[in-house]
Amino acid sequence: MDGMACPVCSLGGTLRAQSLTEARDHEGRTVVIHDVPAFVCDRCGSRVYDEHITRTLEDVYAHAANDRAEMYVVRLGDFKAAS
Ligand SMILES: [Zn+2]
Repeated sequence: MDGMACPVCSLGGTLRAQSLTEARDHEGRTVVIHDVPAFVCDRCGSRVYDEHITRTLEDVYAHAANDRAEMYVVRLGDFKAAS
């Protein structure tokens, strides 16, 4: 997807491969996921993920929902290795 036209904006943005940290409130706890491979529009900043990354993120959120800690932090690569 690197170098593709942004599917979100009409600004003529281009998607650039990056490694991001995702932080989100999920069911009352903070979930932080490091090293998420994503494609970011250089104009509007929209984040686009590969389908398998989207699925893995959903797995992380589902897993985090079963964790009792207020904050769940993981590296995406470590999560995949553990599951
Ligand atoms: Zn865009």
